[in-house]
Amino acid sequence: MNDCIFCKIIKGEIPSYKIYEDEFVYAFLDIACDSYGHTLVIPKKHCTNVLDVDQDYLVACIKAVQKISKHYVDDCGFEGVNILNASGKCAGQSVFHLHFHIVPRKSSDGMDLWPLKDKYQIDLADVCKKLAL
Ligand code: AMP
Ligand code: ZN
Repeated sequence: MNDCIFCKIIKGEIPSYKIYEDEFVYAFLDIACDSYGHTLVIPKKHCTNVLDVDQDYLVACIKAVQKISKHYVDDCGFEGVNILNASGKCAGQSVFHLHFHIVPRKSSDGMDLWPLKDKYQIDLADVCKKLAL
């Protein structure tokens, strides 16, 4: 895709801070600087999100997510990670080339990536009846 900023990053037309790369995947630091080490993992073949990605590329992305996450925990002093993905504008996706966010975590970092902890009155049996495959 000519106008896709992540495709441009893969091609080196836009600079990025590379964390990891293999045949299928590129990973780099998120420019947001909203947490230390916030990383994006993207497939080298353009797709919009998890709804249209080729399964081979999806598997490669998830493998890379695990590899990088283990590196952050085993070698870089983090204790865990949050893995985030937005698929669709309604879900908060702002760049329409599939990407997984890795947010390296420490228990002392003070971040709360799950702020909506209210319990709703939801009939789980009814939800299951409507949503189960
Ligand atoms: P999302 O809102 O889930 O689609 O995430 C898109 C992410 O891409 C945001 O966290 C942005 O900070 C990040 N981003 C946008 N442009 C760049 C760029 N040129 N380099 C690195 N990260 C970027
Ligand atoms: Zn793209």
